[in-house]
Amino acid sequence: MRALVLEEKLKLSLRDIDLPLDLGPRDVKIAIHTVGVCGSDVHYYTHGRIGPFVVNAPMVLGHEAAGTVVEIGAEVKSLKVGDRVCMEPGIPDLTSKASKLGIYNVDPSVTFWATPPVHGCLTPYVVFPEAFTYKLPENVSFAEGAMVEPFAIGMQAAAKARIVPGDTALVIGAGPIGIMVALAALAGGCSRVYVSDLVNEKLAIAGQYDGIVPVNIRETDLKARIAADTDDWGVDIVFEASGSPRAYDGIFNFVRPGGTIVFVGLPVEPIALDIVAASAKEVKMETVFRYANVFDRALSLIASGKVDLKPLITGVYSFEDSIAAFERAASGNPNDVKLQITLG
Ligand SMILES: [Zn+2]
Repeated sequence: MRALVLEEKLKLSLRDIDLPLDLGPRDVKIAIHTVGVCGSDVHYYTHGRIGPFVVNAPMVLGHEAAGTVVEIGAEVKSLKVGDRVCMEPGIPDLTSKASKLGIYNVDPSVTFWATPPVHGCLTPYVVFPEAFTYKLPENVSFAEGAMVEPFAIGMQAAAKARIVPGDTALVIGAGPIGIMVALAALAGGCSRVYVSDLVNEKLAIAGQYDGIVPVNIRETDLKARIAADTDDWGVDIVFEASGSPRAYDGIFNFVRPGGTIVFVGLPVEPIALDIVAASAKEVKMETVFRYANVFDRALSLIASGKVDLKPLITGVYSFEDSIAAFERAASGNPNDVKLQITLG
């Protein structure tokens, strides 16, 4: 079957590759329609690895997908042929301790699309478990369906923050994930979400949404701005979504006493945190690894119109032009949020 294959670092090809398509009783076969290009796909392309995950053999890229069910296993009940769906790309062992606790995203045996050695979904057909395949509401397009996966990270961050209606928040980093986190925080009840970055183009994209206050930290002292707006109290929640080593320096200055910091970004190297500064405010700290139990909630929010992800899709490529899509994504154009590839 034809697929977009990362042969090795910096070498992509669109070629035939043997991929298993055996349909188990609780699996569905899906014709892929749209796949989003993710920062992690691009990182494997440009660096050949993410932390301990190293591309040692050709691997099909892609994990943000929507498509149409074309065949169902004998015991599938919730889906039928013709259903439009999106897929949650991590498959845990459903009998594991983590799964029983509801934290299946941190099941040590989870397999995840396009995380070595597991192939991704940039290929015309995949077979996937019914349990992690979600029917798209009628008014949710394939393009939006393929945005559920990156939005799910924002959903997980918002859930971890335990937002109370009216909370104020700061999101550090206006990249795709930062914007997803800000939108999920607003949908979760935040009254105002500051989004900070160094790049005006990214801030302009974030700032088009009501409730988001963009702050360029080259031009504005973020600590002084938040202090001025909150009577020196601080925001209720800080989401770190940049992974930039500089972002952790002084991060506890922004949060109010008893507030929460959610670490979403993944710094490449270990970083130091000022635990005394955190203790002095009894700051609550949370971490995020992918997501669990949020896909159907994300779909409900999109279908309701409360979250509009369409303005974040800044380029669409055909499957035949997949390599061009990855080259553009790797070029780091600050006006791009999400590029998608369509196969349908
Ligand atoms: Zn992704």
